[in-house]
Amino acid sequence: MQAFGQRPCTRTCAHADPDMTPSPAFSVCVYCGSRSGVLPAYADVARQVGTWIAQHNGQLVYGGGNNGLMGLVAQATADAGGRVVGIIPKALQTKENTRTACTELYVVDTMHERKHMMAERADVFLALPGGIGTFEEFFEVWTWRQLGYHDKPIGLLNTAGYYDGLLQFAQSSVSAGFLSDWQMDLIRSGEDATALLQELVQAAGFSPEPQLAGI
Ligand code: AMP
Repeated sequence: MQAFGQRPCTRTCAHADPDMTPSPAFSVCVYCGSRSGVLPAYADVARQVGTWIAQHNGQLVYGGGNNGLMGLVAQATADAGGRVVGIIPKALQTKENTRTACTELYVVDTMHERKHMMAERADVFLALPGGIGTFEEFFEVWTWRQLGYHDKPIGLLNTAGYYDGLLQFAQSSVSAGFLSDWQMDLIRSGEDATALLQELVQAAGFSPEPQLAGI
């Protein structure tokens, strides 16, 4: 098994805000759209996820951009007093509108380095609605899990049924003999953001407790 920590990262910490936040109890790596999508429910759930992370003394690990749901989840985490770790490839800084106000911001050389570092810093993974970047990241951590490269819980937030089609397709792969039930069991999905976050974080061995401030 290859542990995430074994490959060295040549990253540069480009910026760090004065860190007034408490040490986080756990880290949630969020994959989500660089756009906001058409339904207000997508933006609402991104804010809900960021707020929940901060209110339970968690830390957000994400792609470091300001666009779309990515920007919303980071802003909500920060607004609720939480730590935000952003990891962005050098070449995408302009396109993805780097969030310079991250608690920790890493500008890395390659997409591979970003994904590796995000995975390394995570205790759990959660995919919100998004596009092909989100799909790719979600499928990668799912495949890494089936290969035994990590054993971190993985969630798919099925806001307003956004991932119904993907889940049905995966289930049809089981029927077609290309996927097994045990592989499906490596991911958890649901529409209720707080219930899914609670489940993932507990599965990673943490007991997320709401902080009194801000509740
Ligand atoms: P999207 O879901 O397509 O809006 O993209 C969400 C995020 O995924 C953006 O920060 C993209 O840079 C990132 N992304 C795009 N392609 C990839 C990839 N191959 N691996 C990892 N992340 C990616």
